[in-house]
Amino acid sequence: MALEIIVMIKQVPDSQEVVIDPVTFTLNRGAARNVINPADENAIEAALRIKDKTDAHITVITMGPPFAESALIDCMSRGVDDAVLVTDRAFAGADTYPTGLTLASTIKKLGKYDIIFAGEESTDSSTGHVGPGVAEFLGTDQASYTSESWYEDGFVYAKRELEDGTEIVKMKPPTLITVLTNANDPRRATLRKKIDAMKKGIKTMTLADLGMPPEWVGLRGSPTVVKSMRTIDEKKREGKKFKIEEIPKLVDELIEKKIISI
Ligand SMILES: Cc1cc2nc3c(=O)[nH]c(=O)nc-3n(C[C@H](O)[C@H](O)[C@H](O)COP(=O)(O)OP(=O)(O)OC[C@H]3O[C@@H](n4cnc5c(N)ncnc54)[C@H](O)[C@@H]3O)c2cc1C
Repeated sequence: MALEIIVMIKQVPDSQEVVIDPVTFTLNRGAARNVINPADENAIEAALRIKDKTDAHITVITMGPPFAESALIDCMSRGVDDAVLVTDRAFAGADTYPTGLTLASTIKKLGKYDIIFAGEESTDSSTGHVGPGVAEFLGTDQASYTSESWYEDGFVYAKRELEDGTEIVKMKPPTLITVLTNANDPRRATLRKKIDAMKKGIKTMTLADLGMPPEWVGLRGSPTVVKSMRTIDEKKREGKKFKIEEIPKLVDELIEKKIISI
């Protein structure tokens, strides 16, 4: 039976184009160009590399507004088989808890799952909560900070990048893996696959499809409350200029104060 792989992706505003609504303190996503979260491109590539070697079926899922469909089509254009957009006004304003819960419910609804991939963290909210949260909700093993993963003889292996080295963990499916940015070199979409993806289309799921109580999702299901937000004025630092003959004395001072060492 084919290995069922799920990849969770998030559409994020491109780099520095993020705009925050000064009244509601939420992100105004409509104001910026949207792209696939960079680490999620690496997660897709990790899934595709397993599919290159094993009989596998990949489904990509995202919880987001209807325009997130373009990100899903992009994933299918790279070789992902199916895509699911989880979208409903009730999901708006979700913090990481209902986001993880909604994605876990979606995965359960889809049926069989062997490996779930997520990016290590998003570039807009950057909490890194969602992948591990989904694993907790589903009760699966998980491996975070991975730079490589593979499937062999019924086991999933993941190479984790730690502060003082690497470790390889061996897990029995189902399992969840979070992938580091730059873990691999993501393949590009092809025109042929893009045409196929547009013909196939994506599947949409709503709150009613998931059968979750409305108070568990979106803003209502979010324990975090942003009470206020302010812009911090960056003080301009005045640079100090030295004459060339003063440099040796300066270096001695910096060594003495343990600011630099040689
Ligand atoms: C109090 C609060 C209020 C918020 N209100 C809003 C709001 O009104 N509007 C808004 O847009 N955001 C809002 N957010 C941000 C929102 O909570 C996060 O965008 C979301 O929960 C994901 O968290 P993250 O970006 O930190 O993901 P991370 O945990 O950093 O993401 C890790 C990985 O999880 C996966 N992932 C994350 N999100 C999704 C997703 N939606 N679908 C599929 N996979 C995913 C991806 O693989 C990603 O690489 C709010 C956050 C807080 C704390």
